[in-house]
Amino acid sequence: MTYSYLSHLHCPKCGTEYDASQLHQLCVCGAPLLVDYDLERLASEVKREDIAARRPDLWRYHELLPVQSEANVVSLGEGMTPLLPVPALGENMGIEHLYMKDEGIIPTGSFKARGAAVGVSRAKELGVTELAMPTNGNAGAAWALYAARAGIRATIVMPVDAPKITRNECAVSGANLVLVDGLISDAGKIVGRAVQEFGLFDASTLKEPYRIEGKKTMGLELAEQFGWDVPDVILYPTGGGVGLIGIHKALKELQAIGWIPAERRLPRLVAVQAEGCAPIVKAWEEGREESEFFPNSETIAFGINVPKALGDFLVLQALRETDGCAIAIGDEALLREQENAARLEGAFVCPEGAAVFAAARALRASGWIADGERVVALNTGAGIKYPDTVSAEVPVLQPEDSLKR
Ligand SMILES: *Cc1c(COP(=O)(O)O)cnc(C)c1O
Ligand SMILES: [Zn+2]
Repeated sequence: MTYSYLSHLHCPKCGTEYDASQLHQLCVCGAPLLVDYDLERLASEVKREDIAARRPDLWRYHELLPVQSEANVVSLGEGMTPLLPVPALGENMGIEHLYMKDEGIIPTGSFKARGAAVGVSRAKELGVTELAMPTNGNAGAAWALYAARAGIRATIVMPVDAPKITRNECAVSGANLVLVDGLISDAGKIVGRAVQEFGLFDASTLKEPYRIEGKKTMGLELAEQFGWDVPDVILYPTGGGVGLIGIHKALKELQAIGWIPAERRLPRLVAVQAEGCAPIVKAWEEGREESEFFPNSETIAFGINVPKALGDFLVLQALRETDGCAIAIGDEALLREQENAARLEGAFVCPEGAAVFAAARALRASGWIADGERVVALNTGAGIKYPDTVSAEVPVLQPEDSLKR
C-alpha cells in the first residue's frame, strides 16, 4: 500500500521541476514551489470511501500528503475540525446557509498547526535537525511545538507586539525565541541572514513547499464534510494566503481524482484582509497579478498583518480562477463582529475569523453573496489567544452585597 502519492515539486512561475526526495526551499527564480502527486494512480487505487473509517485527523488524507512513511508523522491530533452551522449569526446578516469551520479548537490554538504538522513531519523525514522562521506569532508557536515533538531545534523571530501567548508557546517549547522591534518583514530579514550564516532550514511561509500541503487539508475536510461536494463561497482571512492557495489546490486535486464532480463549479474564494494591511485587496482592485509592499501596516488581526506575501500571485490567481474577490475590513467592524459571533452563537472567534464574518456581512449586503448560497467562514484560531481584544467592565461585589438584575 502506498502511503503517499507524492511525485515531484514544480515552480508555478517558471515551470522548473524538482526532485521531491531532496530538501528544497524556493525555486531558482525565487518563487515558491508546489507539490505534485501521481493523481492518476491515486485515482485508480484509492476510493474516497476508504477514508471514512479512518481517525478524525488530517492524516486521514495521507495519500494526498507528502510524508512518505507513517513513521515520520509528527502529530498532536490536528485536523477534522467541526463545520458548524451558525444560523443565528447567518440570519442576522441575511445569509441563510452560513457555516463556520472552527479552527479554534486545534492544537496550539490556531490553524497554523496544520501547516506545522505536515511541514515539520516532512522536514523530519528529509533529515532537518534545525529550522528557523519569522512569524506574527501563531505560526511560530505551532512550529516551535511541533518541532519540539519531532526533536528538531527551532529558532523563532517575532515582532515585539505579537500576541503574548504565542511568545509563551514558543518559550515553553524550548525554542530559541527572539523578538524584533519591527514587523514580520523585519523578522524575515533577520531569519534570512541567520539561514545564510548558519545553514539553518528556512521554514518561512512558502519558502518550503510543505506548509501549503498541511493547510490544504481544510479544503479536503470541507469537501468531505459537505458529503463530497463543495459550498458556494469560502471566505478566508488572508495574510500570506497559504490556506487560500491550499484550499484551492485541494479542491482541484479532488476534482482531478474524481472525489468531487469534475463539472461542479468550485467555490468562489474570498481573500479577507484588514483595512490597515490590504496589499492583496489593492492588487485585486487594480487588476494586478502581484501585490506591492503595503507600507505602515497595522491591524489588531495580527495573523493577517503581512505587508507583502511571497505567494500573492497564487492567491490572486485563485481568486480569478474561481470568480472570487478580495475585501478589506476595518478593525472596528471586526471587533463588532467578534461580539456578534459570541452573543449570537457562543463562538469566541479570533480577530481574523471575525474579519471573515464581517466580510460575509458586507458581501451579502452588496449582493455579491446571493440568496440561498452556502457560505463557509473560516475561523482560523481561538478567541482566547487574544484576550486583550475584549475589554470588559465588570462590577465587583463585597461578600455581603446582593445581585441586581
Ligand atoms: C496566520 C494566520 C492567518 C493568515 O493565514 P495565511 O495562510 O498566512 O494567509 C489567519 N488567521 C490566523 C489566526 C493566523 O494565525
Ligand atoms: Zn521558478
